[in-house]
Amino acid sequence: MRRSTLIILLGIGLPSLLLAALALRTANEQRIVVERQTALLYQRHTDAVAEELQQQLRQRHQQFLDVTKHLLTEVPPEALAPQFAELLANRWRADVVGFAVTLDGELLSPRLPAASRNPSWNAFLNRHAAFVSSHTVTELYQVESSDDATQTIAPPQSAYLEESWRNVAPQQGEASATKELYFGKGVSVPVASKVTVQYERFSSAVSSAPSGILARFAEDQLDLLFWYRPPANASLVFGAALSPKQLRDLWPSSLAAASSIRRDACVAILDERGQPVAQSIEGFAPDWARPFVATELGETLPHWEVGLYLLDPDRLTRAVGNFRLALILGILLALLAIGYGSFLVANETRRQLALAQRKTDFVSNVSHELKSPLTSIRMFAELLEQNRVTEPTKRQQFLRVISLEAERLTRLINNVLDFAKLERKQKWLEPHPVDLYPVIQRTWEAYETHLRAQGFSTTWQADPPPYEAIADPDAVAQMLVNLLSNAEKYSADAKDVMLTTRLEDGTVSISVQDRGLGVPVGQERKIFEPFYRAHDALSSGIQGAGLGLTLAQRLAAEHGGTINFARRDGGGSVFTLRLPRSPMVANAARV
Ligand code: ADP
Repeated sequence: MRRSTLIILLGIGLPSLLLAALALRTANEQRIVVERQTALLYQRHTDAVAEELQQQLRQRHQQFLDVTKHLLTEVPPEALAPQFAELLANRWRADVVGFAVTLDGELLSPRLPAASRNPSWNAFLNRHAAFVSSHTVTELYQVESSDDATQTIAPPQSAYLEESWRNVAPQQGEASATKELYFGKGVSVPVASKVTVQYERFSSAVSSAPSGILARFAEDQLDLLFWYRPPANASLVFGAALSPKQLRDLWPSSLAAASSIRRDACVAILDERGQPVAQSIEGFAPDWARPFVATELGETLPHWEVGLYLLDPDRLTRAVGNFRLALILGILLALLAIGYGSFLVANETRRQLALAQRKTDFVSNVSHELKSPLTSIRMFAELLEQNRVTEPTKRQQFLRVISLEAERLTRLINNVLDFAKLERKQKWLEPHPVDLYPVIQRTWEAYETHLRAQGFSTTWQADPPPYEAIADPDAVAQMLVNLLSNAEKYSADAKDVMLTTRLEDGTVSISVQDRGLGVPVGQERKIFEPFYRAHDALSSGIQGAGLGLTLAQRLAAEHGGTINFARRDGGGSVFTLRLPRSPMVANAARV
């Protein structure tokens, strides 16, 4: 593998692939992030409903405390206790059952036989008499408060504590990751509740604070008891049991706290069995056991929760899917761009390396090209100088060789110097309106003599002059000589050179045709690149610097013209130089 390819692979390809893999990973995790964010957002609403509900309960509790304390200002505790059930119903609410009990377990109010006449007192005694008299240990949850009813959650006190399990697990859309979010992919476990269960007697549950709220489960039903121990007689406990109706009254105002998300989600208050006791959108019936997010109601309503259910759980999945798709497309595009960029860089590097190599070859080619004519010039000049050749025809022939070799040298040096000027974008051409016919004629005649002397057969087919154009005559002569010299150099044994000059649509076209080696297939364009040689000196034995065509093409371009290569029918090459005719001449021809 080439070094540059390796560098591109290691420096660009590998890091890009790594970045793409990381981005894809992020795309996958994005789903979890979005769901978590959404969950957090919605959690605020369930928290708000739960808070509202608790707030309402605290208010009820405060009302109970206010009424009880007010009664105690009128009647001393010992006198209030026996008539507490009646007085509380009168002063506060008729649907509340008040009770008074001593810490020793003596139930002072309501009492039989009076209680037997009141159905709700009777029901209270059946459900709670044994408990409030501290005869039984029961599963209960406790919120204690100081006298001013500021709530604090009681620390676990009893030895009989255990963590309970929540009744609900997160809601799942078609491909929702909420469950994975909490538990890892595919793992389904119930959610542990923060509420701690205690098993205690009533007397010990109320002994550590002046007042509080007790929640207790009896026969699978939740009861809420408010209680208060007056400082004047701390062995007395005044209490009230909330009726189911009183609890129901709290739901609508609590659910109103989440009314802003009615269009997206349904909020429900779930009882300890995970069944809805109230919901914000009537008739909506999701899998109640799987809310999208849920908030526990804590010790006041243990095992109860506020659950939120997305109306369209798949919408989230779709949104995340779209985001992922966009991200993946972005990654693909970036990879394509990096791939294409790397390809271009690799290409350019290869080109530059080839050019550097060609420049090195050029130096040795030029040295050689300079050396061989100089050697002949020196050799023949020495022979002439030493008067060792006396025959006049020989002397003439030697002088001719010297002049030809000097011409070759001049041509090469001119090519190199002109190329350098073009590379520096230095202007030296002097284009002016000129008839190119005599220019071509002079150049051709000089070169034709040389070709014929080498044994070439030559032809010039010419349209009649004038060939008027705006051009630098020296540059045109240089281009033509370069083409003729190539036709000579690459002729091999087929020594035949033909010049065709035509006046075509708006151009003067000058074609040099030979029957020589031809240009190898696939190198038709490369031969115009600087220093490029399709026939290198080593294998073909033909000397050259690789600048003749480059220069001719650039000079043609300077004139607004072109040089093309074509294969000649029957073998050989055709190089055609086209130069624009001067507008004046073109117009005249059209008329
Ligand atoms: P050079 O000094 O090598 O001749 P040129 O720029 O004139 O440089 O030509 C570039 C290459 O194009 C040559 O090396 C040769 O391989 C090819 N070429 C040019 N003219 C001819 C031709 N008439 N026939 C075959 N090949 C040619």
